[in-house]
Amino acid sequence: EMLGDIQQGIVVTRHAKHADVETESGEIFRCNLRRTLKNVVVGDVVSWRLGNEQLQGISGVIEAIYPRKNELSRPDYYDGIKVMAANIDQIIIVSAVLPQLSLNIIDRYLVICENANIPALIVLNKIDLLDAQARQEVEKQLAIYQKIGYQTLCLSADSGENMATLDAYLAQGTSIFVGQSGVGKSSLINRLLPEVNAQTGEVSDISGLGQHTTTASRLYHLQQGGNLIDSPGIREFGLWHLEPEQITQGYREFQSVLGTCKFRDCKHKDDPGCAVREAVELGKIDSVRFENYHRLIESREETKSQRHFRK
Ligand code: GDP
Ligand code: ZN
Repeated sequence: EMLGDIQQGIVVTRHAKHADVETESGEIFRCNLRRTLKNVVVGDVVSWRLGNEQLQGISGVIEAIYPRKNELSRPDYYDGIKVMAANIDQIIIVSAVLPQLSLNIIDRYLVICENANIPALIVLNKIDLLDAQARQEVEKQLAIYQKIGYQTLCLSADSGENMATLDAYLAQGTSIFVGQSGVGKSSLINRLLPEVNAQTGEVSDISGLGQHTTTASRLYHLQQGGNLIDSPGIREFGLWHLEPEQITQGYREFQSVLGTCKFRDCKHKDDPGCAVREAVELGKIDSVRFENYHRLIESREETKSQRHFRK
């Protein structure tokens, strides 16, 4: 097997048996994976070599994965844990003001972001549907998140309001959109990637490498700067069972007081000497967040069965 020199690249598409690697100059090469590298994902920085001839569209081979800054993974019915993407700079949690704004769902996604150590941006879509007063109400709710250091953005994929601000956030690195169905993720992505039909999950052949499967995860370069990683699986991401420790770790404003609860196995509920509850009573921790925390803990069994159903 004659191979060229080791080069560095980034995985822009992960197919079932191979991956498309982009070089610094923007060229894309379809590569096989060494047997030990089955877990190559979109966003991975890899070292690879060009083969001396192209066989069945395959140009090279991936030799190694560089250490990941972070990774987005989900529990998998068959594999235990399945990594979906790596080296993500920002998860954009999309929710919509109608039918109603669900802070509980936002918290659920934030728990995932905190545990994966990936910064989050909370985006509230369909803001065009609100009058001035209703808008003030949602701004108040978003202030809960701003106070604990999260960035938030109200916008409308329909009217275009604040889409330029979204562009500025996206330009900072590699982002992923997550959120429940119906909140407007496809509408936002269609605006950002007009050449990709996000509605049906069909991907056009931008790279010129042949037809892509509809389920492949891909990294797109945005016209206004920055990258977007997207796949149907990633968009619907987040609807699964969370361990209670993950949920607790996912509430960033709890972290500094957790250690001073009277009992080590404190459930942060009616437990005597609970420092978290005291902080809520003192107004240092928002009571809505505290209630959502317990709702997440209590809904664990429910989401567990949902996950099996979804599979
Ligand atoms: P997804 O399931 O998250 O991908 O959501 P879609 O992008 O398919 O949008 C769901 C519905 O919401 C569609 O009927 C869209 O036309 C509508 N929608 C999306 N964004 C907006 C918006 O900013 N304002 C309004 N009024 N409707 C929107
Ligand atoms: Zn406690």
